[in-house]
Amino acid sequence: MTTVPRFWREIPQRYNLIGTKCKVCGRVYFPPREVCPYCRRKSLENMEKIKLSGKGTLYSYTIIHTPPSKFEGQAPYAVGIVELEEGPRITSQIVDCELDKIKIGMKVEAVFRKIQEDGDTGAIYYGFKFKPVENESER
Ligand SMILES: [Zn+2]
Repeated sequence: MTTVPRFWREIPQRYNLIGTKCKVCGRVYFPPREVCPYCRRKSLENMEKIKLSGKGTLYSYTIIHTPPSKFEGQAPYAVGIVELEEGPRITSQIVDCELDKIKIGMKVEAVFRKIQEDGDTGAIYYGFKFKPVENESER
């Protein structure tokens, strides 16, 4: 009953938010891309991995009332587009916030959370979600 779930061994590689940055134009991509769509031909050898801060601003959001079946039981919940400090936009669930307190433009940060449980295999998947930055005055 107390065996260590496999996911704990997978976390170190997945815990950091890793994107890629084009050394030519400086654009940052998440999820990582191998080729910069702006400087296509040159960029293949010019993409470098960078660790993203995980901090950003809520660009827009939607409240989901009728989720896909694998997310049943979680509705209603908010899915937002977060614009990271480094530039890329990520679609992510917004957590740790009353739905009516969610505001476009609020500061958010990435947290590592359970995404879903596979009822058939018992597997639990983890990934990033975003939550409001609580102590904004301390930043
Ligand atoms: Zn580029």
